[in-house]
Amino acid sequence: MELIEISGQEGGGQLLRTALSLSLCTGTAFEMQHIRAKRSRPGLMRQHLTAVGAAAQIGRAHVDGAQLGATTLRFVPGQVQAGRYRFSIGTAGSATLVLQTVLPALWSCAQASELIVEGGTHNPLAPSADFIAQAYLPALRRMGVDTAFALQRHGFFPAGGGSVQLRVSGDARLGQCAFDQRDPAPRLEATALLSALQDQIGYRELQVVGERLNLGEDALHLRRAADAQSPGNVLMLSVSGDAQHTELFDALGERGISAEQVAIGVVKKVESYLASSAAVGEHLSDQLLLPMALAGGGEFTTAFISDHLSSNARLIEKFLPVEIDWVQVEKRCWRVRI
Ligand code: ATP
Repeated sequence: MELIEISGQEGGGQLLRTALSLSLCTGTAFEMQHIRAKRSRPGLMRQHLTAVGAAAQIGRAHVDGAQLGATTLRFVPGQVQAGRYRFSIGTAGSATLVLQTVLPALWSCAQASELIVEGGTHNPLAPSADFIAQAYLPALRRMGVDTAFALQRHGFFPAGGGSVQLRVSGDARLGQCAFDQRDPAPRLEATALLSALQDQIGYRELQVVGERLNLGEDALHLRRAADAQSPGNVLMLSVSGDAQHTELFDALGERGISAEQVAIGVVKKVESYLASSAAVGEHLSDQLLLPMALAGGGEFTTAFISDHLSSNARLIEKFLPVEIDWVQVEKRCWRVRI
């Protein structure tokens, strides 16, 4: 049996999730050591364990070492089965990261699948359900992956309790795509999402965004999440238009941080994106590598090479016969090629 030995030392949960996804897609077993070694609480946390459990169930895998805090895991995949699956994280761990882990295996199956993941839908340091719906899945659609996604219930960090549903057609044939075009006059829209908090918070955020980015009323939206179990606030700004994809920038409101500060944080992210000629934002850049590698190639431009991007690239090369490299083409623009 072929078994790839990998170190998780240079990254976080993403390295583990990428290894799980590619193990299922290639049928190659792996053993990862030093999982999340440099994080303040190293090893597997509940959210990572749910991803391992989900991958194991979908891929009929044999797993050794799946325990809270474990820093070594061995994963031997079996036959991936399409079907209807439901996974629950049980804490506010990110539901979308679990979804991203198993999605590639499901789009490769001959039949369609349906997946429900319960957990956090709007967490710090993870793609929000809105990012999945507006940026990630449409980018995959361009590459040939057919999905229907629904945010069934909002779940805000730290309480969680949300739910996302994904239907994916099987037998996807991925095409090689480039994401390097920018719309010179993109459409910007801001949404303040609120659960059990005063509307005033959202209006204050939208006012700052409107003033700083010169947006009219029709581009400013207030959305109430009446279905959530806990209070929550997220400010999101989408950049779309004739470009090849949509970007979504966001920030979570927090106790002790004013609505104005939350808004300025998001505005700065958008301004920095607009100031560069690169097409793909920081987060989508590390998430595009895996589908592009499975497609056998692809390319995109991005403003800088994050640690997530470089560590993920090196891991992908261990599973697939691809080379991922990048060259700087302008001061704040790199071209990444797979
Ligand atoms: P760890 O706790 O070990 O750092 P983790 O499992 O929480 O790990 P990471 O390894 O840091 O997660 O990976 C997080 C993923 O979420 C990356 O793909 C990153 O680009 C993405 N991400 C983080 N913030 C956002 C955001 N605001 N919008 C979209 N994607 C995001």
